[in-house]
Amino acid sequence: MAVKADRMEASAQELYRALPSVNEVLLREAVQALLLDYSRNEVVDAIRKALEGLRGEIASGLGAPTDLSSRIDALPESIEEILRRGHRYSLRKVINATGVLLHTNLGRAPLSRKAMEHVAEVACGYSNLELDLDRGERGKRDVHTEPLLLALVAEAAGFTAETHRAIVVNNCAAATHLTLDALARGREVLVSRGELVEIGGGFRIPEILEASGAVIREVGTTNRTRVADYQAALSANTAMILRVHQSNFSMDGFVERPSLREIVALGAKNNIPVFEDQGTGLLRSLADYGYPGEPTMVESLAAGCDVVAASGDKLLGGPQCGILIGRKPVIDRIRAHPLFRTARVDKLTYAALEATLLQYRSCSFREIPLFRMLAADTEEIASRCARVAAALADSSLAAEVVEVEGMLGGGTSPKVRLKSFAVALNHASHSPEEILRALRLLEPPVIGRIDADRVLLDLRTVDPECDHDLMQSLRALEPSQGAS
Ligand SMILES: *Cc1c(COP(=O)(O)O)cnc(C)c1O
Repeated sequence: MAVKADRMEASAQELYRALPSVNEVLLREAVQALLLDYSRNEVVDAIRKALEGLRGEIASGLGAPTDLSSRIDALPESIEEILRRGHRYSLRKVINATGVLLHTNLGRAPLSRKAMEHVAEVACGYSNLELDLDRGERGKRDVHTEPLLLALVAEAAGFTAETHRAIVVNNCAAATHLTLDALARGREVLVSRGELVEIGGGFRIPEILEASGAVIREVGTTNRTRVADYQAALSANTAMILRVHQSNFSMDGFVERPSLREIVALGAKNNIPVFEDQGTGLLRSLADYGYPGEPTMVESLAAGCDVVAASGDKLLGGPQCGILIGRKPVIDRIRAHPLFRTARVDKLTYAALEATLLQYRSCSFREIPLFRMLAADTEEIASRCARVAAALADSSLAAEVVEVEGMLGGGTSPKVRLKSFAVALNHASHSPEEILRALRLLEPPVIGRIDADRVLLDLRTVDPECDHDLMQSLRALEPSQGAS
């Protein structure tokens, strides 16, 4: 590479001219070796990109020719890096150190090992998804989770599995849409003004109601709604009363809302079905973990709701799906609606949900990551943080252990705070934003958060098996200037 290293000031033109051609780079031994693993076209593309990168650097004022010369020498490595990135998955595992258990951006609930194994088994071969093995006839995919779902709620909710049904669709939004469409198209749905809310990710109750062809009949006011308000709004055109769990926000002060039981009583008296968009899918009380007060699906069904919709990947701790449990005639109508087919879930979802529900049945809650993280001993989290901080003693990062508060997340229980500990990171010459970005660019990426001008890594949401790798990655971390 004929770069005149003795000239400290070179014009950009000279630097451009010093760049090798694609062919010259291709002929280098280290680049030829890449042809063993990658196609020629890919390698040529990567060389172009790498040279493009160097041109960009020159344009933005790369210093001396000596810099360029060493960059040119390092071309094979940058080319290999470009090739590796091209073959890397877009959807990748990350380490969630945000302390938010159900992080919608990070895929909400992690699946248990057992669920994952069941998915793998079912995914890689054929299955009896729609085959009744006993009779040798076509079966319904519902059967893989319906009996389990009903068994988990029936007794506590005070009904028998004969009177109710449980079906699964793609997510809770679909479950709600489908229910409104099947039961209320062209007719009125009574809903409190305090429940015409946005759940997150663009899921707005008024919009879903409109999309389903139902007519919104608002009752009460934003902060106060009484049974009498629902009563006054009833008419011959009322198809249903909708109740929306205010899962992702809370209202305090001068507020009033009838209990679900009162609404169910009103509905029963007037022969109007009551539908609750319960959202969280919580099947067992969180009181065991010290967080009482978060309503469960069982409570909704015990109150007498005709149908309840929930997510599978929130407080149930399973795969993304929407679960509908309700009275048989109501669910039958929803199941028969043409839209059901458009929200149908695949075998992978059934496999993951079935395995998760079986873990509920055997009370193996420790095996479900969501509950394992909830139950994690705070002192244990603190000592893990201390080990990580100690490993950074001689690195460029300043680390200390601090007490923090985590959250359930995923649009659930906004008031619940999970006492936890975090490794707080600072760098003498880099901003917290730059550290955060460098963490995201690690392999696997580490997702933290910024609080009070430092980066926090809450280890409650980090699998202890990842601690060692996390330490190694942090020790090698080199933030770069200008985080985007
Ligand atoms: C989360 C939530 C939804 C949306 O659930 P998805 O499974 O994400 O579609 C709907 N309603 C309520 C009350 C929720 O909490």
